Amino acid sequence: MDKVYLTWWQVDRAIFALADKLREYKPDVIVGIARGGLIPAVRLSHILGDLEVKVIDVKFYKDIEERMEKPVITIPLHGSLEGKKVVIVDDVSDTGKTLEVVIDEVKKAGASEVKVACLSMKPWTKVIPDFYVFRTDKWIVFPWEEFPVVVRE
Ligand code: 5GP
Repeated sequence: MDKVYLTWWQVDRAIFALADKLREYKPDVIVGIARGGLIPAVRLSHILGDLEVKVIDVKFYKDIEERMEKPVITIPLHGSLEGKKVVIVDDVSDTGKTLEVVIDEVKKAGASEVKVACLSMKPWTKVIPDFYVFRTDKWIVFPWEEFPVVVRE
């Protein structure tokens, strides 16, 4: 699968674009999906005035294009979301199966409203985020993943 490399600058611009949308939605809580959603979740929290961040960890991918049978929650959500307006934040909605599981968990925790914000989405996803910036059919490499540094010709 072809890869596309995003820079920190592109990602930060995208996060600010998501923040603009979220100012209208006015969430009470951000639920960040580990690992990829955590950096955007924390950055959004700071931009939006220290919004509360909760964490959920879901494992689905072993490698590029190599998935497990279904997403498995390895760190569940802690505490109640009773009556809260929630935004779930992730790096990318690919199959959308991870988001399906997390949306379900957030609703079970009592959220009154749930929206999804992702930096990017794939055209085939079954969960189109309410807010997203990039749309690509390539494998995205985020700046925090590129280690060790690859020197390209
Ligand atoms: P999904 O459940 O939507 O198939 O996949 C969601 C998770 O898989 C994402 O949160 C991300 O961690 C990982 N993932 C899926 N596609 C990509 C991609 O193109 N690039 C990276 N870096 N991670 C991906």
